[in-house]
Amino acid sequence: MKVIVDQNKCVASGQCVLTAPEVFDQREEDGIVVLLAENPPEGLADDVRQAVALCPAQAIWLEEQETKE
Ligand code: SF4
Repeated sequence: MKVIVDQNKCVASGQCVLTAPEVFDQREEDGIVVLLAENPPEGLADDVRQAVALCPAQAIWLEEQETKE
């Protein structure tokens, strides 16, 4: 799973940080999202999906990656 954020769309609501604090943070000065983990471990996948669903600005999306090796 690869996480992508668009800081230009973010409205600094903080939903993503509340939902997946290991993956998202907010800038001190304006609350805009900061991505902490572009490739979060599988154990956080559900939290990240929830953050995507809760983000009011559709500023987060995912690229699911097949890991077949
Ligand atoms: S939930 Fe969306 S709008 Fe809110 S801080 Fe996170 S990325 Fe920004």
